[in-house]
Amino acid sequence: MESWNTPLPARLPVQPDRLKIHDTSSQAERHPGNLAEASLYVCGITPYDATHLGHANTYVTFDLLNRYWRACGLPVTYVQNVTDVDDPLLERATATGVDWRDLAADQTELFRSDMEALNVLAPDHYVGATETVDWVVQSVEALVDNGTAYAVPGVDGGPDGDVYFSIDAAEAATDWTLGSIGRLGSEEMSAVFPDRGGDPERPGKRHPLDPLLWRVARPGEPTWDGRSLGAGRPGWHIECSAIARRLLPAPFTVQGGGSDLRFPHHEFSAAHATAADGKPLAGTFVHAGMVGYEGEKMSKSLGNLVLVSRLRQQGIEAVAIRAALLSNHYRADWEWTPELLRQAMDRVARWRQALGLETAEDGSAVLAAAHRALSHDLDAPAALTELDRWAERALDRNAVDQYSAAPSSDLSAPDVRTVANGLLGLML
Ligand code: ZN
Repeated sequence: MESWNTPLPARLPVQPDRLKIHDTSSQAERHPGNLAEASLYVCGITPYDATHLGHANTYVTFDLLNRYWRACGLPVTYVQNVTDVDDPLLERATATGVDWRDLAADQTELFRSDMEALNVLAPDHYVGATETVDWVVQSVEALVDNGTAYAVPGVDGGPDGDVYFSIDAAEAATDWTLGSIGRLGSEEMSAVFPDRGGDPERPGKRHPLDPLLWRVARPGEPTWDGRSLGAGRPGWHIECSAIARRLLPAPFTVQGGGSDLRFPHHEFSAAHATAADGKPLAGTFVHAGMVGYEGEKMSKSLGNLVLVSRLRQQGIEAVAIRAALLSNHYRADWEWTPELLRQAMDRVARWRQALGLETAEDGSAVLAAAHRALSHDLDAPAALTELDRWAERALDRNAVDQYSAAPSSDLSAPDVRTVANGLLGLML
């Protein structure tokens, strides 16, 4: 489907091979491999509620990685999906009397405009689940053929033939074991599974945590031709697995998402891919922390959402929202507050004030310091502090003697505005 438009940043004079990033699967910081084909898959939204700050935090996090690679001159392939058919979307559409397709289209459009405002680089492939049902069907058929998927028999006259992934069969046939990607313990996996789309009580499943691959047709639900699977619609984890396998190398470099995707979503997307072709889904699994508000995790189910679009309607500049997000380390869980936003607005104003001085130095020192900070597990808060230090120096020097420092004559050195946009996506 249509993506959005964000200007690509300039390449910057930095080394490409410095980045170490925390990998959830190995629980260690490491250099992401396969940079000859730098490739990124970030799980997209289910479009039934507009972009909240938790979403924005995740996409801005992975935009840092994308910008880091691009600044280094690496060609990057970035894929993001839109889960534009799924239970929560259909339930919301029914509850509000809206056609599910219209709801998905409207919310996806709002998401695009939020991403554009936040200066998040657009994916190279922005793909809807409804556009890729054929890919899912082929993947599920392959899993059925090799014995890692099975159809659940109908119970009490209910529909027959929903297809599930067999954890036990996949563990026997591949290197993947349950928990090896998301690194949650078995008790925690069992605890979160029902809240994240899982159905441990479903009769006929071989393992309570076996995830759905293909849901056969029910009256009133949208369905697609599933060939040997029968008419139906895709499960969630196989959607991302199938899209990534079609559009990215196997394995691709980084799988990204919020930490609530560690299990079951990323655990099973990876397991499905490995069960199909024996290869890992991705080399590195990276997860962004959760954003809280008024003491709770910001989530649709709790109804405590702060929406990017609402803040923008209130006249808040998107660059200040972005600066507020970046002032927290991406792996931290943190709380959104009006004070955090006010501080970010002050910082943006101060950076602009410094950029307005003729005496402002070139950006080489800021570039080196910000790149060093980001190389350590994308430490954006430290990079913002470098911008603060530069602004302080520039404003102090100007106060002492506004004629003492001539602007740099070195045309190859990037200016600070180019560095701030290139590495941090802050359009000042
Ligand atoms: Zn996904």
